[in-house]
Amino acid sequence: MAINAPKGTRDLLPDQALFWNQFRQTATDVFGVYGYLPIETPLIEQTELFVRGIGEATDVVSKEMFTAISGENLRRWVEEGEAPDAKSRLSLRPEGTAGTVRAVVQHDLVPQGAAPAKLMYAGPMFRAERPQKGRYRQFTQIGVECLGAEEPTIDAEAIIMLMRFYEKVGIPRDAIRLLLNSMGCEQCRPAYRDRVKAYMDERAGELCGTCMARAEVNPLRAFDCKNQACAAVMAGAPKISDHLCDDCREHYEAVKALLDGAGVVYEEDYKLVRGLDYYTRTVFEVQVDDGMGAQNAIGGGGRYDKLAEEVGGRPTPGLGFALGFERCVLALEAAGHEFPRAQRCDLFVACVDDLVRARAFALVQECRDAGFICEMDHQKRSLKSQFKLADKLGAARVAVLGPDELAEGVATLRDMGTHTEAKVRLDEVVGELGRAIL
Ligand code: AMP
Repeated sequence: MAINAPKGTRDLLPDQALFWNQFRQTATDVFGVYGYLPIETPLIEQTELFVRGIGEATDVVSKEMFTAISGENLRRWVEEGEAPDAKSRLSLRPEGTAGTVRAVVQHDLVPQGAAPAKLMYAGPMFRAERPQKGRYRQFTQIGVECLGAEEPTIDAEAIIMLMRFYEKVGIPRDAIRLLLNSMGCEQCRPAYRDRVKAYMDERAGELCGTCMARAEVNPLRAFDCKNQACAAVMAGAPKISDHLCDDCREHYEAVKALLDGAGVVYEEDYKLVRGLDYYTRTVFEVQVDDGMGAQNAIGGGGRYDKLAEEVGGRPTPGLGFALGFERCVLALEAAGHEFPRAQRCDLFVACVDDLVRARAFALVQECRDAGFICEMDHQKRSLKSQFKLADKLGAARVAVLGPDELAEGVATLRDMGTHTEAKVRLDEVVGELGRAIL
């Protein structure tokens, strides 16, 4: 039986893979203008990093991590009952922030007094979620992290930059909503969390079992519950905006003023708490209204001023976001975006018979060396089916080479768009292509 890709994973076929390269390049260009430089961290990290960084009680860590055990450790576990020690427990990264912050701490990228480190990454993330439209077990994120600055200008410029990126890739502004909230800090959040818990305890009979369990560990996650009864109860819960400390309020107001000044439209959403424990102060999410069902977040992030300490570094404020490539593609499809056809062929060299094949092969190389995308037949097709193939490849021109042409030192160059033909000297084909394409 044929083996298929695992559930929740997808192959990116050439058109899609080329679009991914383009998409990633656009991010590198847009974020580069804001000073973000690429970083590549391993796809696997010690499980402990995610437990400490993201939080043991989060869905991502408690239920969704793929934990990798090397063959030898697995054998020892199964055959000798010896469980791997903490350091040899590795997990596939479920998100990019924890690994990036680990790298910043490990390589001391933000020494005291240094400018903030602005980093961007792009690549696969892994979560053992139940697959559905827009939700995969291996998916692709592009993310940025800025470490070493707590000023609201960093929050605002990251949000502005994200919105510029969506615009640049072609997601219409009126198809997306930017949601904004502040989650407070270690000064004001604990008291707020207690108020929410007390409120939930009072309304316990109306909440689902999951929310009641959340009330014990992280009551704020109940704002995320999709259950309508829970949503109705939580609409009356105390709002974080009424319980921010002065510093957090000032920070939040400054972020909003900067966004207003830049003409960025946002909606304040007290329900926006995000799923990961590390967020403090600013959180934001970009959602699409149409065509994506429940998986409508195409990007989101926030500030995490305590994360560096959680993973063993010195106090280093941070802020970041990640956007999902697959969901952006869905949003582009819903907006009727025309994806460029990946395959381009500037010239197809067709052989009338086998005797001209060597010269055709040399011509193809000459054209490629000059930077033109050039192809020929490699399957002994008839001339007719070589034309069909050229058509399939989207060849703009076909150079026909037969014994007569070879004797004359020319090729018959056919423009597939206008259907006109002209004889061109073999040593002038490259020049002719250059003129035609320019
Ligand atoms: P998060 O790290 O959960 O804040 O996710 C950031 C972005 O990654 C989301 O807004 C989505 O666009 C994307 N994303 C998260 N989880 C998945 C998933 N399971 N499948 C596809 N995209 C995802």
